[in-house]
This record gives sequence, C-alpha cells and structure tokens, in this order.
Amino acid sequence: MNEHSIRRLVIVGGGTAGWMTATALRQLLYPELSIEVIESEEIGIIGVGEATIPPFRRHNALLGIDEREFVRGTQATFKLGIEFRDWARPGDSYIHGFGTLGLDLDGQPFHQYWTRALQMGVAKDLGLYSFNVLAARQGRFMPTPTDAPKDTPLEDIVYAYHFDATLYARYLRRFAEAHGVRRIEGRIVEVGLRPDTGFVDTLVLQDGRTVSGDFFIDCSGFRGLLIEQRLQAGYEDWSHWLPCDRAWAVPCENVVPPTPYTRATARPAGWQWRIPLQHRVGNGHVFCSRHMSEDEARTVLLENLEGRPLAEPKLIPFHGGKRRRAWIRNVVAIGLSGGFLEPLESTAIHLIQTAIAKLALLFPERDCSEALRNRYNAQMDEEFAWVRDFLILHYHATERADTPFWNYCRTMEIPESLREVIALFSDSARIIPRTDELFKTVSWAQVMIGQRIKPRRYPPVIDRLTDAELTKFVKHVEEVVGSCVAVVPAHEAFIARHCKAPPP
Ligand SMILES: Cc1cc2nc3c(=O)[nH]c(=O)nc-3n(C[C@H](O)[C@H](O)[C@H](O)COP(=O)(O)OP(=O)(O)OC[C@H]3O[C@@H](n4cnc5c(N)ncnc54)[C@H](O)[C@@H]3O)c2cc1C
Repeated sequence: MNEHSIRRLVIVGGGTAGWMTATALRQLLYPELSIEVIESEEIGIIGVGEATIPPFRRHNALLGIDEREFVRGTQATFKLGIEFRDWARPGDSYIHGFGTLGLDLDGQPFHQYWTRALQMGVAKDLGLYSFNVLAARQGRFMPTPTDAPKDTPLEDIVYAYHFDATLYARYLRRFAEAHGVRRIEGRIVEVGLRPDTGFVDTLVLQDGRTVSGDFFIDCSGFRGLLIEQRLQAGYEDWSHWLPCDRAWAVPCENVVPPTPYTRATARPAGWQWRIPLQHRVGNGHVFCSRHMSEDEARTVLLENLEGRPLAEPKLIPFHGGKRRRAWIRNVVAIGLSGGFLEPLESTAIHLIQTAIAKLALLFPERDCSEALRNRYNAQMDEEFAWVRDFLILHYHATERADTPFWNYCRTMEIPESLREVIALFSDSARIIPRTDELFKTVSWAQVMIGQRIKPRRYPPVIDRLTDAELTKFVKHVEEVVGSCVAVVPAHEAFIARHCKAPPP
C-alpha cells in the first residue's frame, strides 16, 4: 500500500454478489484495506440463485472453507450436470454433464469418434460415455476418491452444488465479519459525487448516517443503485435473442431423494427449473411475457410441482443483457447490477466470481486509471457474450414448432459468433472454443448433440482408426465409464453419511 492506494472499499448490497465480493477481496487484496458492506434488511435479497457450476468450488477453496461444513450449513446437495427435457423435441432428454466426455484420442475430442461411430451404427447414447451423465442418471455421487484407479474418470470427479441462497449469503456474511469486514445495516437514499471528478464520494442512509469511500462496488441487484441510478451506465438489452423476461419462483416439499443434477424442462413459452436441496426443492418457471400471461405462467409452475408448495410463488421480472460499462469512474457493478443472463446454465454466480477475479487483478489506485477500466470492461463484455451465445444455442437449435414462442426462437436471427460455431459443428463436428471461454468443447458438444444438430461429416484424421478399432474403442470407453459409476454410492446415501444438514 502507498499514498495513492485505495483505503476504504464500500460494497453496496449483501446478497450473494456482495458477500462473495467482500469475502474474496478480503483474501486477495492488502490487509490495510477497510471493507464495508451496506445492506438493507427491509429490501432483502433476491433469494434465488441456487444452482452453480464447477468453478464455484474455487471460491470456497480460496476462503479455505471445509466442504462438508459448507454443505451442511447451506442445506446443499451435489450437482453433476443439468438435464434438459423436451428442448429439441417434446419427449427428448439429455444431460449436459460436467467433467470429461469419453476419452480424447491423439488430440482429437471424443465426440468426433462418436460421430463416426454413430454413422457406422455402433455408437450408443452420448451420455453412456460420460461418467457425470451416467452417475447423474443413476442418482449416484461421490467426490474424487483418494484411491482412484489411474486413467479413469474417477481420478477427477467434476461437480458443483445446489444450495439455499439465503443461507449461503448468511454463511458468507459470518465468514466475512470474522475476517474483519464491517457490515452496515441501512437503506441508502442518496449517492453523493465529488464535484471535481464525478467520482462517488458519500452514501447517505435513510437515518442520516453517511458512509464515505475511495472505491465502491455496486452489488445492489437489479436496482443498480450506483451504476445505473446515479451514473447511468446504460443497458445492452439482449431480449431479442433471450426473449424470456420473467420468472415465477416457488419452493416445494421434497418427495423423492435429491437428484445430483439440476433439471430444466421446456414449457410452451419458456422453461421450468428444478433444484433439489436437502430440505426442499427450488422451482421456477422462466417465461416470455409476450407469449404467456403471468397468471398462466404461475398456473403452469404450480401444476408441475412434485411436492406441496412451501410458500407463495414470487414473480421476478428481468431483462436479459448487461450494463454497457460495468466499471465507471470509481464504481464497479458486480452481480445483477452488472447484467443478467437467465439461469438456464447456472452462470450468474460464475459471472460474479469471474468479475471478482478480474477486479482483483486490475484493482486500481485511487485515480482508477482509464486503462484499467477499459480492460476490465472489455473482459466482462467478452464473458457475457460467450455465455449469451451458449444460452441462445439451447433455444435456437430446436425442432419445436408447436407454439409461437418456439417458432420465434427457432427462426430468430442469432449473433454471428454463434452462427459460426454452429456452422463449423454442422459441417464437420469441429468445435474450437474461444480462448478462456467458460464453456469448453465438451459442453458445446453435449448441448449441440442434445439439441439434435447433426454434423454432416467428421475430420478425416478420425479415419486413422479402422472400423474394428473404432468399435473396440467406443465399447472400451463405455465399459470403463460403466464400471467407474458402479462403485459410486447413491447421492442421498453419500449426503446422509458425510454432510447431512440439520432440519431447518
Ligand atoms: C429467476 C432467477 C433465477 C436465478 N437462478 C440462478 C441460478 O440457478 N444460478 C446462478 O448462478 N444464479 C442464478 N440467478 C442469479 C442470482 O440470483 C444472482 O446472481 C445472485 O443472487 C446475486 O444477486 P445480487 O447479490 O446481485 O442481488 P440481490 O440478491 O438482489 O442483493 C442486492 C442487495 O442490495 C441491497 N440493496 C439494494 N438497494 C439498497 C439500498 N438502497 N440500500 C441498501 N442496500 C440496498 C439489498 O438489501 C441486497 O442486500 C438467478 C436469478 C434470477 C432472477
């Protein structure tokens, strides 16, 4: 730290974004930095956002949190992937599993061998070659065992969690406060700017208290209290590509053992999520209000619950898109205030995490140099665009023509960047992910195949194997995956033995 360093960091908002930011920056930045979180219990948090993807585990690792204690403390379950039901055609089901898919050979991804095997008539369902998908289908889970046999999928079991968002925010808050983060309860009613620079200077609370800082992180949720209401960053609206703009959310009773995966079931004007926790199931219906009324969408949700609802459904309106600039002057927006892409692939918490990691690398001095701001904004623009393209793929690559909503999605114009990915895969089963892109070849392959995109051919190098060798290869992979899954305990049994949460 020197005389130009930021000394007071103020985080506005104590939802998942606010507390994740506070806990991570406490670990990643210099100890002299004072960190304060202002939140308003009266406003509360959004309370959804309960399914994660594997990079999330890095956050807990950074904080040194014990996994089993975390699972117990947030009523969490384990997640091996996401099941998509009825997306390409009614009746379809595929799982986008985390981790590996089959076995890459001579530098070529497995799905290309599978494509050839399919054309020869010797390939089975793609999921049978993925440890995560097969284990998910059979309701099994365990983390990587210490005695995993070499060169098998058991050597690195890739997973994430489902957790209770409210318990998670509380959990992080306790951690943050124990590590010196100061929490201020109160509703901010005014945001003061320095006259010379236009930097945010002081926040005025409803009871008249003021909080000053050198640098502010806006985690105030959809309100965008600083970034939009005060600094008017502007919003890039992507609803022409991601037309869903509302969600009804409701928890219900658990009536079956928790599945180790999230489910996303297509509905006439959107889709429904199912997130199993230890003490309840989180459900929501994401829909497009141009194609379905709020009342109808609520009925669709309530008619498709497995158990008794445990609360009144809550309506959450949103717009798919992102802030034009996430960092303006001395304010960075992280979380819903920075943008929102619907929860189909559980990416919002990941976008919080990646924003924090980038900010930690580019954390400025008090002048917040333009070069740093530009770099950060460009990187976040890229992150959002990659996730956006992956989400659009699920809607657009469909054969469904049974409702006006699906007709729109199937025939809509898509971003050029996504069009190129689909064209390359359709031509020759090739997938070349962009550097640093969140979703890698395995994810794109599973979703494109699951959405029934059929490659016309495969790369010529795949013909290096004879027909007999290829048949033997895919059979071998299937057997290895099957034998590995067979030793994994039931998800419910694993939780009961190692991390059962107390009743809520
Ligand atoms: C329908 C839906 C489903 C989702 N599902 C998933 C999912 O499965 N997986 C996933 O990764 N993400 C999901 N998300 C996103 C996820 O919920 C959010 O990214 C995450 O909860 C972070 O929210 P937040 O902290 O930005 O905002 P919030 O939780 O809204 O927190 C905002 C905070 O700001 C405070 N605040 C606001 N105004 C003031 C003020 N004037 N004064 C003082 N304090 C103020 C509030 O009190 C609160 O503490 C979902 C989102 C939606 C809408």
